[in-house]
Amino acid sequence: MSTVEGEFNGLVAIVTGGASGIGAAIAQRLRAGGATVAVFDLAPESADADLAVAVDVSDDESVRAGVARVIDALGRIDIVVNNAGIGAQGDIAANGDDEWHRVWDVNVVGLARVSRAALPHLRVSPAAAIVNTSSIAATAGLPQRALYSATKGAVLALTRAMAADHLREGIRVNAVNPGTADTPWVGRLLDAADDPAAERAALEARQPHGRLVSPDEVAAAVAYLASPASGSTTGTSIAVDGGMQELRLRPA
Ligand code: NAD
Repeated sequence: MSTVEGEFNGLVAIVTGGASGIGAAIAQRLRAGGATVAVFDLAPESADADLAVAVDVSDDESVRAGVARVIDALGRIDIVVNNAGIGAQGDIAANGDDEWHRVWDVNVVGLARVSRAALPHLRVSPAAAIVNTSSIAATAGLPQRALYSATKGAVLALTRAMAADHLREGIRVNAVNPGTADTPWVGRLLDAADDPAAERAALEARQPHGRLVSPDEVAAAVAYLASPASGSTTGTSIAVDGGMQELRLRPA
């Protein structure tokens, strides 16, 4: 993974959902650049982090306690990566209110909870950045992902709104939109399929570049958006999806 040596030296980052998949790659990438990284996760034991905290982003008290713990232990917060997320399958009729509230509470309100708890600390950072993990599902109109797509669209809308609100405070807010990435999440979907190998081939074929996105590729985009190198970039997103969003390519 390419890094600019020491680009995050002296900075403290929180990565939610940082114990697995894309979040774990982001935590590793930020640490490689010199950041001190706190991972917030439901299951933080396996996290490769300077500080691993058991936080449920769907619980406001848990989030506020996690942020207080970071300040106690590490003294500052410069970067917040809102990456924790859960999936939902099916069309608009597939999920009832309980499931809508459950997934929205993690993917959207969770992002708001962590961001607002960190805000007073970001305001006094000279290098404040928030990076949110959205998805190709926000823009591509994927079939059988109604609820999940709605939450990821909201992540993009919040990214722009937060960027506007906090621009003058020196806090930049951006997002990444991964295509289907090779993570334990996708592994679980494949394991549940009748024919995992055929399902994997179908997912690969759905990506215009013919393969799954690697978590390290997403982490590299997050690192750019979190670093001073992107100092004039705010309120936008980077697609890491093999061309799916912009090229409108589909399998032949
Ligand atoms: P993953 O399941 O491998 O990892 C997600 C992590 O989030 C886990 O460690 C889990 O414990 C944690 N988490 C879940 N709910 C939480 C909560 N309430 N509080 C704290 N932590 C919680 O998933 P992944 O594939 O690495 O996905 C990470 C992010 O990337 C998600 O936001 C997902 O929507 C997004 N994304 C994934 C893909 C993909 O294909 N894998 C594509 C686009 C976007």
